[in-house]
Amino acid sequence: MTLHKGASDRDRSRQARPVNPFYGEADPVAGMDTSPPRHTLPEGPVAPHTAYQFVHDELMLDGNSRLNLATFVTTWMEPQAGILMSECRDKNMIDKDEYPLTAELERRCVAMLADLWHAPDPSTTVGCSTTGSSEACMLAGMAFKRRWSRRNADRYPATARPNLVMGANVQVCWEKFCTFWEVEARQVPMEGDRFHLDAASAAALCDENTIGVVAVLGSTFDGSYEPVAEICAALDALQERTGLDIPVHVDGASGAMIAPFLDPELVWDFRLPRVASINTSGHKYGLVYPGVGWALWRDEAALPEELVFRVNYLGGDMPTFALNFSRPGAQVAAQYYTFLRLGREGYRAVQQATRDVARSLAERIAAPGDFRLLTRGDQLPVFAFTTADGVTAFDVFDVSRRMKERGWLLPAYTFPPHREDLSVLRIVCRNGFSQDLADLFLADLESLLPELRRQPGPLNRPENVATAFHH
Ligand SMILES: *Cc1c(COP(=O)(O)O)cnc(C)c1O
Repeated sequence: MTLHKGASDRDRSRQARPVNPFYGEADPVAGMDTSPPRHTLPEGPVAPHTAYQFVHDELMLDGNSRLNLATFVTTWMEPQAGILMSECRDKNMIDKDEYPLTAELERRCVAMLADLWHAPDPSTTVGCSTTGSSEACMLAGMAFKRRWSRRNADRYPATARPNLVMGANVQVCWEKFCTFWEVEARQVPMEGDRFHLDAASAAALCDENTIGVVAVLGSTFDGSYEPVAEICAALDALQERTGLDIPVHVDGASGAMIAPFLDPELVWDFRLPRVASINTSGHKYGLVYPGVGWALWRDEAALPEELVFRVNYLGGDMPTFALNFSRPGAQVAAQYYTFLRLGREGYRAVQQATRDVARSLAERIAAPGDFRLLTRGDQLPVFAFTTADGVTAFDVFDVSRRMKERGWLLPAYTFPPHREDLSVLRIVCRNGFSQDLADLFLADLESLLPELRRQPGPLNRPENVATAFHH
């Protein structure tokens, strides 16, 4: 038998071997009598259960996400999805060589979306996951800009300035894109009861410096679908007249996961040859916790090769198109789980239930006569409403504030140019906002109405709200 010799901690190399500082508990005997500083890094460590309790307790003051009717982002998933996500929380999406299966799930999701959105040849469609629609829109906008600048190398950057045509109702990500990438944002204002982009105005704003047109399915402001097919037809006519060939990007952050299931006859996707790219938010009606989005291009010609970076220092040689480098892989696994779990029929059932809640809630809100609906929740399961003509005792901001007392986050906001005079409330129905919760919401709203009607006039209107108070 081997004869072992003892070892001594006096051996300096052994003493100096570092361990993870998290392994020790700080002063477990005396505990703590002062709380750690909040705005400077504490001098030393505290025990994990103590740190947990500090953070947990402060977060109790955050709202209850299920009662948030402002957000489009998923606030409920099945427990199995939560388990899967926690199993994947150490996986880095960029390490495609270390996590080939996560990369494979991403590839399958892109293929499923290409098929869902009627790509002419799903095998040549290119796409990727992103942190959300904002990143996806940046990528799509960059592809537009690069395609245009290639075609106009004789004029850009010397004399020409690129522009992008969109409605004034676009989500802020498009204004960000234009600012960050130095593209002129050509916005079609709202007009009367037209609250989104229309085909004629879109075509009228295009010229030889237009890199593309953004059509939104559906609008963040009121849940309405923009007329994508009409916009494409107007651009076809423009091309016949002038030779200008302007591609369309569909910002389907919400609608690209609603329309394929609930409005299959609506033609808005790659069936329209002019649609070059589409994005959606996996974390909206894709039904996954934040943050995952998707960007797809019709074919490789729509995505200039020089924008695709190949990294080899993680092993392998992977083409990537992304703003970030590292990004969590858990959301992609959860997206694949949800696709597998629900299938087409499952998605249809979930979205239908959500839209049924939206439509009936919209009707019931309008019934007593205090409110006027702008949309009815029959496109996106989202609707906007304002106070009825002749209501002078309260405004939408009063309603929003009073509903907050009951825990509901019901946003009130003003519309973009030229309807800054219009202030609305908006309800985003999501999976998990059940008919039962909608009933409770309505009961709270109805119980407040008598008090609101007795007000002498609107109270505490935000200072930045324009003139006419009631709509
Ligand atoms: C939410 C939204 C975005 C931004 O999406 P994120 O996933 O939050 O980054 C862009 N466009 C539209 C139409 C949206 O509704």
